[in-house]
Amino acid sequence: MMDKIWGQACAELEGSVGPHNYNHWIKPLRLTSIDEGAARLVSPTRFISDWVNRHYGNQILEVLNRQGATVERLRFDVGSAAPKPVPANDPAPAQPTTRIAPRADLGAPLDPRYTFSNFVVGKPNELAHAAARRVAEGGPVGFNPLFLYGGVGLGKTHLMHAIAHEYGVRHPNAQVLYLSAEQFMYRFVQALRESSIMDFKSMFRNVNMLMVDDVQFIAGKDSTQEEFFHTFNALVDQGKQIVISADRAPAEIKGLEERIKSRLSCGLIVDLHPTTYELRLGILQSKTEAFHRQHPDLVIGAGVLEFLAHRISTNVRVLEGALQRLFAHASLLRREITLEVAQECLTDILRTNDRKISIDDIQRKVAEHYNIRLADMIGPKRARNVARPRQIAMYLCKQLTSRSLPEIGRRFGGRDHTTIMHGVRKVDELMGDDTALAEDVAVLRRMLEG
Ligand code: ADP
Ligand code: MG
Repeated sequence: MMDKIWGQACAELEGSVGPHNYNHWIKPLRLTSIDEGAARLVSPTRFISDWVNRHYGNQILEVLNRQGATVERLRFDVGSAAPKPVPANDPAPAQPTTRIAPRADLGAPLDPRYTFSNFVVGKPNELAHAAARRVAEGGPVGFNPLFLYGGVGLGKTHLMHAIAHEYGVRHPNAQVLYLSAEQFMYRFVQALRESSIMDFKSMFRNVNMLMVDDVQFIAGKDSTQEEFFHTFNALVDQGKQIVISADRAPAEIKGLEERIKSRLSCGLIVDLHPTTYELRLGILQSKTEAFHRQHPDLVIGAGVLEFLAHRISTNVRVLEGALQRLFAHASLLRREITLEVAQECLTDILRTNDRKISIDDIQRKVAEHYNIRLADMIGPKRARNVARPRQIAMYLCKQLTSRSLPEIGRRFGGRDHTTIMHGVRKVDELMGDDTALAEDVAVLRRMLEG
């Protein structure tokens, strides 16, 4: 019975995740039981189950439900043996398990990994983090709503889940409702269709904390906004905490009603800034340590994390994806991840990230920084005050883009690749004992990457 359901689910999953991912991640799993809304899967390693739970958990739930099973959460048992049956009156999960469990019927599942302890704090996110902590304590906070905004993959959802987890621990009887604005709309439309709008309203108005993620989604969706506005007001009036996230500041969300914007602005608005090199490195180190605790035998070679932190500067999700891939590589091949292996394994990710910084950008920024003309940067002048910045620009082109030396040469007024190589070496050498120059290079690099 289970084998049959799983077999059909697998066929569907293979189609949606692709054969490669399917073979790596899904195929090693086996469905052993479905009981009281929990599907138990056996996985050969903790690593695989964590990864699957994280990346394919929702898809698996959906597929199983489409097969006619009623499944709300997944539980993973590690090992090849079938799990011991859990007595019906003992819902405590067997160890080790990970679970996806919604806090309330209306809410979205919380990722168990998105906790404060897993959140690395740095300059770009320290304010958002502090505000989130404060809200999670649930005391007399002093700002309602908390509005978190920032670009993709900077940790908004992570912080919201962390608030929900922490608040739930401190207030076990409280109702915390977390969902995306899209889900809010979906529930609203469903309630309209089923004429259960009163239930919808009362459910939303009876929570202690409401968290709506990616609120920019409801911009331009008038009746959803209307309902959101009423829910929002009702909760604020009752002194219930609201946490909202968006990809930009309230004032910048087009198609969002003015009255909503002004209500949103009553609380605390904090933004998550783009990551810095230091924060990225911190995140990579913390994730690698966690990975190491479970796989002490797998080694990430020297310089690999620094390399990733330098080269992948878009968002943390991409950074994590790269690291996950290296972990998967290491655990499948049982090989140390050297800098070379990392470069090869991540060619595609590194390439897309490179598009961010162009030779043009570098030339322009360096020229600006040293107050020389862009034409001189590229032209033949040999005076020191022009030649040195030019070499620094060459050095940065080599470091921050994947262009070859001849390509870089062409962009510097058709210079030979040996000239570029000489320039790169020179700067490398100078950085060793000229701290002012090293500082300049670091500043330029940060500007270009940020
Ligand atoms: P957003 O909602 O802002 O688009 P997410 O919260 O989904 O971003 O973050 C993307 C990924 O990056 C998540 O896996 C999250 O755990 C991770 N992440 C982001 N910022 C941090 C941080 N400061 N420390 C640890 N992990 C982080
Ligand atoms: Mg998000």
